[in-house]
Amino acid sequence: MRIGLVLAAAGLGTRLKSAEPKAFLRLGDQTLVDRALAPFLLRDDLAAAAVAVPDPAVAADLLRHLDPRVRFVQGGEDRQASVAAGLAVLGEVDLILVHDAARPLVEEATIAAVIEAAAKSGAAVPALPIHDTVKEVGSDGRVKGTPPRAALVLAQTPQGFRADLLRRAHAEAQAAGVRGTDDASLVERLGEPVLVVPGRRSNFKITTREDVLIAEAILQARAQPPK
Ligand code: C5P
Repeated sequence: MRIGLVLAAAGLGTRLKSAEPKAFLRLGDQTLVDRALAPFLLRDDLAAAAVAVPDPAVAADLLRHLDPRVRFVQGGEDRQASVAAGLAVLGEVDLILVHDAARPLVEEATIAAVIEAAAKSGAAVPALPIHDTVKEVGSDGRVKGTPPRAALVLAQTPQGFRADLLRRAHAEAQAAGVRGTDDASLVERLGEPVLVVPGRRSNFKITTREDVLIAEAILQARAQPPK
């Protein structure tokens, strides 16, 4: 099975208030893009990776490892457009994984679980149970309701899809003017099943300065062998 990866790394990270685009922020000695790519590049069945970035000309310089499977493309206005730009250059593969560069602590086991479930069912996402109580809030700041949390999960990436299914989902969403915040939602609207596999808390999305500190602490803990 040939696997393709689209890495969404074209966000500007305005909530981080950093000078560089978020994906080129450093965690220790490596950028978020480097760290997010690394566990995928370890796989022999990974045939191609398309990384959507704000400026492909400077991206290659900033990266540590240049693997011949990796290509940079100009990202789009929103995440969906960036993923579409990646899909356009990916070439022929059987299964496509879409991952956020903002989740640099993704582990090989999660990638393997997503691939296995997506190969079986067509589409799979890693997700976490919700431990907090969820409130629906109106624009007036007042609570409208408390949805039962047992049926709710928090979706992560990498999300995995049969290549033809993901390409059709993007094409149909584009034609219908639908914008989704993840790729699975575009597949769901076609009525196709999406499987959930267990996510990991460490695979969280870096959004704020505080998240950077948490990620650095996790990396430090991983670097210290257990006593
Ligand atoms: O904005 P959000 O936090 O949802 O971003 C999730 C991922 O999508 C990030 O890795 C970001 O770099 C990427 N993104 C992108 N192109 C955009 C906006 C976000 O590739 N235009």
